[in-house]
Amino acid sequence: MRILIVTDIEGVAGVVHPDQTREGHAEHEKARRWMTCEANAAVGGAFDGGATEVWVADSHGGYRNLLPDELDARARLISGKPRSLGMMGGLSAEFGAAMLVGFHARGEARGVLAHTINSAAFARLWLNGSELGEAGLYGALAGEMGVPVIMASGDDVFVAETRPLFPHCVFAATKEAVGRHSAISLSPEASRAAIRAAARQAMSVIHSAEPLSMQGPIQARLQARTPAHADLFCQWPALDRVDGVTLQFCAASVEHAVRMINCLSAMAAALR
Ligand SMILES: [Zn+2]
Repeated sequence: MRILIVTDIEGVAGVVHPDQTREGHAEHEKARRWMTCEANAAVGGAFDGGATEVWVADSHGGYRNLLPDELDARARLISGKPRSLGMMGGLSAEFGAAMLVGFHARGEARGVLAHTINSAAFARLWLNGSELGEAGLYGALAGEMGVPVIMASGDDVFVAETRPLFPHCVFAATKEAVGRHSAISLSPEASRAAIRAAARQAMSVIHSAEPLSMQGPIQARLQARTPAHADLFCQWPALDRVDGVTLQFCAASVEHAVRMINCLSAMAAALR
């Protein structure tokens, strides 16, 4: 059984401030080590539970956070950007399940460092009328390939908003959000133990877990960060303007929607 572990950094225990998530910042050097250790905890739990092959996708920022020489030697690392399928890089129907480690709540929610894809570009996102964060968007992408999400970790707000999407998923809450830049966190050690236990337990639900199913065509709606972002995004003829900050488009599949959203995210750099 091949497992994909998708790793972000905002939901890692001890991470509460944007400096901890920015490449090149001294605080990020510590946080990326915690992220690597939480990835390793999930890798360990997956193998404990019977996985035969584990791939780890580095899926924060420039996708170059995890420390390759500190990653569990049994795992394969997917890193670097841009890449096909974005955060779910490497995924195919060959995988038995996906695990989401270090995830965060969706944009405009009350979770630690909550955002959706790119906080400088987007405020909120809906697919077929359902508001989704990154776990929902990429969980639907995995679902389109028949791959269920069986384990996820992050703060309590992330867990609460994500649980209804993945009824069989085993969650590990790494911290309790106090505010956008504040949390009551587990220690890194305790967080890793919780993640390893959740990953191991998740391997036992794999056969009953349902992939998140979303039927195409996909109606995608985005709330841009500012009207200027909406002006920019709507230069793309496939997008319709709904109001000052809201736009929508139709995509043939979740994969196409993800690809368009990631292109818009890259375009947003023009307004920085
Ligand atoms: Zn991130």
